Amino acid sequence: MPAELIDGTAIAREVRSDVARDTARLIARGIRPGLAVVLVGENPASAVYVRAKGKASEEAGMHSVTIRLPADTTQAQLFEQVDRLNADPAIHGILVQMPLPKQIDSQAVVRRVRPEKDVDGFHPVNAGKLLIGERDGFAPCTPAGVQEMLVRSGIETKGSECVIVGRSTIVGKPMAALLIQDAPGANATVTICHSRTVDLGAHTRRADILIVAAGRPRFITGDMVKPGSVVIDVGINRVDDVRAKNGYILVGDVDFATVREVAGRITPVPGGVGPMTIAMLLKNTVRAAELASAELASAGAAA
Ligand code: NAD
Repeated sequence: MPAELIDGTAIAREVRSDVARDTARLIARGIRPGLAVVLVGENPASAVYVRAKGKASEEAGMHSVTIRLPADTTQAQLFEQVDRLNADPAIHGILVQMPLPKQIDSQAVVRRVRPEKDVDGFHPVNAGKLLIGERDGFAPCTPAGVQEMLVRSGIETKGSECVIVGRSTIVGKPMAALLIQDAPGANATVTICHSRTVDLGAHTRRADILIVAAGRPRFITGDMVKPGSVVIDVGINRVDDVRAKNGYILVGDVDFATVREVAGRITPVPGGVGPMTIAMLLKNTVRAAELASAELASAGAAA
């Protein structure tokens, strides 16, 4: 029997409706969560993502600001914008869309955003908090979205063998950090595989939960998967397809046709992890606003 689909679009809708409810509750207390998205240059894929993030935050009832800067913006000019947003009390979350033009040091920009407003979860302070299990930081949106999907789909992570393919800073490593915690939706035994792993299949075939973020189209095939397991495909790859209207289709890092015959549950591409990423960005922004208001209240009480 083919694997059951995990519907990321439906789960993301649930998360977004929770976010809209929490936003309304905060607005009733006089706090409107604010998200600022900064786009430098005209990368078409980035422009699409930025538009989608702005629209989603507006739909959730948030204060939404999009700042578009020219491709020749200097690092100092970008820092100026980030500093202004860092100081703006109406903005609780700041996202600088990557990739940035060559003249700008992306890591320096990531470090420039105040950790309390780093809703992307890329600042080293948030990466460190995630690893040591402190709850007042922000986890990167894609792996946080995968965890949220597992929880909302009723998939038990506690005690499970979880294998992650990919060790990037935005997906693989934070995914592992989330799943090893002694916390709900975690407590897994985690293996991280990467480009230098010997005999990848021997690892992936042991996985109760297999999470793939390798950036290689249809890389994981049915023979690499444990029967009945849960397979989460983070990959988004464009591959040429003459039958498609625009000449390409989107596929994951998992060979859906063969893996679906072996796995118990699987995420499709598109419609799997993708929609979760924006939903978690909104969730992080609401939490940033809540944390900021709690801090203000305690500062007020201490004064
Ligand atoms: P990346 O290129 O930074 O990292 C890929 C990782 O895969 C590396 O750590 C590498 O060691 C590993 N890898 C490469 N070849 C391998 C092999 N032969 N065996 C084992 N491991 C191998 O990619 P990333 O930024 O982590 O993204 C991964 C995929 O997820 C991409 O397809 C990307 O488009 C997608 N992605 C999707 C979302 C989303 O919102 N759904 C967000 C981020 C990334």
